[in-house]
Amino acid sequence: MIKVAENQVAEKREQAIADNIAALQRQLAELTEQSQFTDNVTLLAVSKKHPVDAIIAAAESGLHQFAENYVQEGVDKIIALRESGYTQPLTWHFIGPLQSNKTAVVAEHFDWVQSIEREKIARRLNEQRPDDMEPLNVLLQVNIDDDTNKSGLAPEQVNPLAKYVSQCPNLKLRGLMTILQANTDETQRRQSFARMRQLYLELQQNYGAEIDTLSMGMSGDMRQAILEGANMVRIGTAIFGQRE
Ligand SMILES: *Cc1c(COP(=O)(O)O)cnc(C)c1O
Repeated sequence: MIKVAENQVAEKREQAIADNIAALQRQLAELTEQSQFTDNVTLLAVSKKHPVDAIIAAAESGLHQFAENYVQEGVDKIIALRESGYTQPLTWHFIGPLQSNKTAVVAEHFDWVQSIEREKIARRLNEQRPDDMEPLNVLLQVNIDDDTNKSGLAPEQVNPLAKYVSQCPNLKLRGLMTILQANTDETQRRQSFARMRQLYLELQQNYGAEIDTLSMGMSGDMRQAILEGANMVRIGTAIFGQRE
């Protein structure tokens, strides 16, 4: 009996995830249609604090790119999925703060790191990326609101770090990521995201078409982000529900 009840709960959760993804994809299509600055938005599922079963449910609903914030939790899930026999190929993004003593395990398991803000971290990831893997895709994290609680580069620090990363053979610079300050109003968000778009365009002018990713917008601010040109949104809550 208990088993049956557990299965029903799991089935309900899977259905909720599928419904959430379908609703989000409709919203993303509408927003992309409205936006003057983007014509294609990748939905990145932020699975932190959610179990492997939830990741599989999202993958079965058509998502292929997942993101984690905490190194050990992320690596544990990547390995658990592989060992579960799940064969759908998934792409993994690391989006959290990264300390230098954790870079090796990130270089060995993830496909992207979106939270690069220091040369030392870039250098270690470049050195530690295994030879038999593709170059690690990298975004530079920008603290666009100059928020003292957030990590990330000041806008004027983007060019020097981009130059360094672009010379690392095992890293591939793809663009920029930002997290806005909490509790800002819609106008402020639009302004901050628009400043990100300017920085992104400058980066494209310097490095060309390899710069193809502007990662901004989460469950609460994806609307403003897409209207200002995001082409990747990082969504947790609106897919998986509240985290504990
Ligand atoms: C948790 C997190 C997200 C997702 O946030 P939601 O509000 O749950 O959509 C996106 N980006 C980063 C960097 C995060 O840490």
